[in-house]
Amino acid sequence: MEFCEKCGAMMVAFTQDDGKRVLKCRSCEHTKEIEGRLRVSQNFEKGPRDKIIVVEDDSIPMPVTRASCPKCSNNDAYYWMVQTRRGDEGATEFYRCTKCKHTWRHY
Ligand SMILES: [Zn+2]
Ligand SMILES: [Zn+2]
Repeated sequence: MEFCEKCGAMMVAFTQDDGKRVLKCRSCEHTKEIEGRLRVSQNFEKGPRDKIIVVEDDSIPMPVTRASCPKCSNNDAYYWMVQTRRGDEGATEFYRCTKCKHTWRHY
C-alpha cells in the first residue's frame, strides 16, 4: 500500500484518461507514476523460461517417434510439442523414452 507523499492519505490505483496507470491520492489528488511496478510484474510473468514441462499422466495417448534415448539407448520415444515462449520462437519438442521414461528436449 502507498501513501501520499504530500498529505499522507492512502493512494489508490487509477487509470488516467490517456490509459496510463497511476497512483492517486484520495484527498489531495496528487498522482504518482507506477511504471516501476509494472516492469517488476512483467518480469515475474515470464517465470522460469526454460522449465521442462513433464507430462505425468501416462493415460494420455502420445505419438511415438524414433529418437535415441540418451540414458538407455532405446530408439522409441513419445514426443510432444510445447510452446515455451512467445509465438515468434516456435515450439520446443520434448521426448520421453518408452522404456525408462527419461524425458528430454530437442532443439
Ligand atoms: Zn495527498
Ligand atoms: Zn531410455
